[in-house]
Amino acid sequence: GASDQDAKPLRWAGLLGLTGALVTGAIALAPDADALQQEQKKTRVVVLGTGWGATSFLNALKPKHNAQYDIQVVSPRNYFLFSPLLPAAATGTVDTKSIVDPIRSHLDKSCNYYKAEALQINVKDKKVTCVYEKPTWRTCDLAGKDRVFDLDYDVLVVAVGAVTNTFNVPGVVGNCFFLKTAEDAKAIRERVNACFELANLPDSTEEDRKRLLSFVVAGGGPTGTELAAELNDLIHEDMMRYFPRVQASDISIRQIDSHDHILSAFDRSIAAYATDHFRRSGIDLILNCRIKAVEENRVVVLDQGSNELRQVPFGTCIWTTGIRMHPLSEKLAEQLQGEQEHWRSLKVDRRLMVKGTSDIFALGDAATIEQEKVFSHAEELFEEGDTNHDGNLSSAELQELLLKERKKYPQLIEIAARVPPNKLLNREDFKNALAELDKSLRSVPATAQVAHQQGHYLGKLFRQHHLDGSGLPEDAAEFKYNSKGSLAYIGSDKAVMDPGESMAFLKYVKGWFMGFGWKSAEIAMQASLKNQLAVMYDFMKTKMFGRDISDI
Ligand code: FAD
Repeated sequence: GASDQDAKPLRWAGLLGLTGALVTGAIALAPDADALQQEQKKTRVVVLGTGWGATSFLNALKPKHNAQYDIQVVSPRNYFLFSPLLPAAATGTVDTKSIVDPIRSHLDKSCNYYKAEALQINVKDKKVTCVYEKPTWRTCDLAGKDRVFDLDYDVLVVAVGAVTNTFNVPGVVGNCFFLKTAEDAKAIRERVNACFELANLPDSTEEDRKRLLSFVVAGGGPTGTELAAELNDLIHEDMMRYFPRVQASDISIRQIDSHDHILSAFDRSIAAYATDHFRRSGIDLILNCRIKAVEENRVVVLDQGSNELRQVPFGTCIWTTGIRMHPLSEKLAEQLQGEQEHWRSLKVDRRLMVKGTSDIFALGDAATIEQEKVFSHAEELFEEGDTNHDGNLSSAELQELLLKERKKYPQLIEIAARVPPNKLLNREDFKNALAELDKSLRSVPATAQVAHQQGHYLGKLFRQHHLDGSGLPEDAAEFKYNSKGSLAYIGSDKAVMDPGESMAFLKYVKGWFMGFGWKSAEIAMQASLKNQLAVMYDFMKTKMFGRDISDI
């Protein structure tokens, strides 16, 4: 060992080192005036939602926002949900866990997320009142009671999406399942399993089996179509194999729509192909019928051809038709009276700023970009088609004309979808109908694709300009929608694509080849590599071993 003499200089050196370190540390810890000033200057941004729009906004903003913005995110859902695969999750083709990603993995450390629901936006005081709802299902009560708190904002981003529209049809709430959330998908999966287990019990009669195993999907849009297709796959590829007591004749899948084909927003030839494929797959299409009421075990529909009421029995009915304004957006619109008149979403300008405000942005399903020329253009298209100049045009001709230009004016898709089928339309009636629609239509469709692009655009806008809630600079770029086409799964590994105008040739690619394209796209579009691998694995597992039909 070293002697005491040798140790002395070492101790002095140690003491000096320690003092030096403490001084340096103290300097480092002392508040940096510049940093403090900058902290105070940060714009307080509150983001409502963790869906397609909000997540894409946060991702686009992430690399550079620290210096400029203090970001707080509020949503009752602490994960991003890949909604296009909800029909597949509802039938066990993919695991629900594979299509969700924790929102915190998309956030910078300086950004705070609160698991709560925004209850009210106070425009005058620039505050959002939020509530953390006490979970009711826990035996161990952590929260005690609902926790209500306020968040102040300089700039607010509303990305709360929309809610399912029941169109006030009596009996929908209480008798139907919905497909909007991960919980909805889980509930449908459990219900389908329970129906088969009950039908399989030794004392179940043929009548019981027929009642239990009749599924009705209300709505022929992409969600309803994909769900009917996935249900059909599940039943024929798996359930029939495992439930020998159940006969094919015990099962029915019916899909109801008010048009004369499903996927009415798609190109007509594609919609016709999908309709034909469904008929051949054994799905019973009840078309040209409007749902008037839903009762305990039957749907009452009005056949628009014969004008007669029909009854469609069901064991399980899933309602997938349309969306309407989120209650939070409704309350915000009420405070901005005179500027907001839509029933479906908040009216925003081309930079996604809510009309009547200078500090609130809205995007995705929660927003409608103000209409411009689309209605006068729809009228011009009518004139163009009316070659006889007698003021009349058939529904089919008008729809075809409208859909031709859907790439330039995506709103034409919704106008076309609302043209009554099989009629001779009068120009004046069409003009009046357009004036009515003007109040409710969106300028871009309510899709994940739009919400994602808007989120990306807004994130970039926030990066390029230091926004402080006093409006936008004159030179701020406007949002431009770039349609990449729409895909829909139609069952038996087949899919269709409405590619829009730029890649119109792709509309001829249907069936298995497009089915492969659909699966690849669903994998590629996942929120993270982890989800991409999980979905790919699920697709492969289902193909090789069938779906997991256990209750867990
Ligand atoms: P959402 O993604 O719905 O997100 C809304 C967010 O707001 C959620 O995080 C929610 O928890 C949160 N929120 C709700 N209330 C509050 C509140 N009070 N306070 C704070 N936060 C709140 N689109 C496509 O383009 N392709 C498809 O294939 C496709 N398939 C679909 C299939 C199904 C079954 C469904 C339901 C939709 C599908 N869509 C598809 C549409 C697409 O999901 C929506 O257009 C998209 O989710 C809209 O994004 P958003 O960010 O506006 O809203």
